Amino acid sequence: MKYPHSVNIIGGGLAGSEAAWQLANANVPVIIHEMRPLKSTEAHKTKTLSELVCSNSFRSDDFVNNAVGVLHQELRLANSLIMFCADKCKIPAGGALAVDRENFSQMVEEKINAHELIQIKRTEINQLSKLTNDNETIIATGPLTSSSLANDIIKQTGESSLAFFDAIAPIIYFDSINMNIAWFQSRYDKGSGKDYINCPLSKEQYYNFINDLLNSKKIEFKNWEKTTPYFEGCMPIEIMAKRGLETLRHGPMKPFGLTNSNDINNKPYAVIQLRQDNSIGSLWNIVGFQTKMTYEEQKRVFKTIPGLENAKFARLGGLHRNTFINSPKLLNKNLCLKSNPNIYFAGQITGVEGYVESASIGLIAGVFIAFKKKQESIIYPPNQTALGSLLNHITRNADKETFQPMNINFGLFPDVQSKEINGQKINKINRRQMLSSQALHQSKIWSQKINKLLKNI
Ligand SMILES: Cc1cc2nc3c(=O)[nH]c(=O)nc-3n(C[C@H](O)[C@H](O)[C@H](O)COP(=O)(O)OP(=O)(O)OC[C@H]3O[C@@H](n4cnc5c(N)ncnc54)[C@H](O)[C@@H]3O)c2cc1C
Repeated sequence: MKYPHSVNIIGGGLAGSEAAWQLANANVPVIIHEMRPLKSTEAHKTKTLSELVCSNSFRSDDFVNNAVGVLHQELRLANSLIMFCADKCKIPAGGALAVDRENFSQMVEEKINAHELIQIKRTEINQLSKLTNDNETIIATGPLTSSSLANDIIKQTGESSLAFFDAIAPIIYFDSINMNIAWFQSRYDKGSGKDYINCPLSKEQYYNFINDLLNSKKIEFKNWEKTTPYFEGCMPIEIMAKRGLETLRHGPMKPFGLTNSNDINNKPYAVIQLRQDNSIGSLWNIVGFQTKMTYEEQKRVFKTIPGLENAKFARLGGLHRNTFINSPKLLNKNLCLKSNPNIYFAGQITGVEGYVESASIGLIAGVFIAFKKKQESIIYPPNQTALGSLLNHITRNADKETFQPMNINFGLFPDVQSKEINGQKINKINRRQMLSSQALHQSKIWSQKINKLLKNI
């Protein structure tokens, strides 16, 4: 049965194209509203759908040891258009899945054009009210959403719910932090007592650290990023450090209200704090440490922090133009606004980061609306899957006060139950492989169910 009312999708990028494909294959007609080529963004160069604006890599394709590889495989199981085209346009890149970018977006465009239930309208949508009525609308306009639509989203959701800069502080895996040096404590003992992890610095360590920050290699802003409003709250640490040697010690590195429980008699000269980043406590972000240092420099400089000498980074810091909503505050688990069940969001604008993650949220949004159209209860991707972990992170597990965009990583997955195999303690490699195999097993079952229920595959 074909459903009478079309779903509107604003934005024909990775998320919008994937959502359209999932809906159309479930017999739900779709209209994609894409503003290019009439109006372009600062980064897109072509008029084709799903243009890859920067790198041509979908990152690691290793679905045994790498979380993004698991996500690739789950997308394949769920009949993803983006993964189908990426596999077809693959070029040699070692363990990574890299594509010929022109062939890739050309193929996505051809597939979408050929689908009888998908219509493409080349137009900029600047007001949601023009579309919504009683039909579902997916907003998949990405990190470079046009400003008129961004303003309308602010009207719908409130000023503080839409960010224009992605001020990313690095995130570290808990099990790589040396707790013989670092300690749990909230400033002035507020909160539960385990809200922050603190790393102590002596006077000499502090000045060496500032020196390292000032002399490290940085990534430059692109021209169009320079004209985007710059918020004091997103100030990179190295720019703060330039204002004076003591500035950071009176800002994010202040030592006040803290006592080092590993060394009670020694008052640190400065303290670097990490705040829990996910509800299971496997990931911790360095508070106030957004930075434009290159990735290599971040790894080098941050590993000089006492307690972080063996730090493993789930994500490195950065600062660039990126429009995204506060999903844990605004969206329910179905990816629609809590305040309006017909307005859905998908892709990078939901606060995921990366091509594969954006396509994944597009796939999930498409599947969820197909369930709604069929008047069936939604079957959610299981918590153990990469798709489920990403969805849970942006809609529930992430802290809405500090929400920042996120790549898929094993820290988002619920941990494995058992701590031992055959009497041996599970090491990190075993743990990742167990998480991957559990995710793919559950994902297979989920995909079979949705393919049968929604798409008669
Ligand atoms: C400069 C830059 C570089 C990036 N590099 C990488 C990278 O190397 N690797 C990586 O994995 N990720 C990268 N990303 C992050 C992100 O994964 C990609 O931007 C990805 O394309 C996001 O997918 P999406 O579908 O959410 O948005 P997009 O792919 O950007 O698609 C959104 C679409 O919406 C359209 N649109 C916007 N506003 C309107 C409107 N009002 N009406 C109609 N259409 C509209 C746009 O024209 C666009 O086609 C980068 C982001 C940026 C900004």
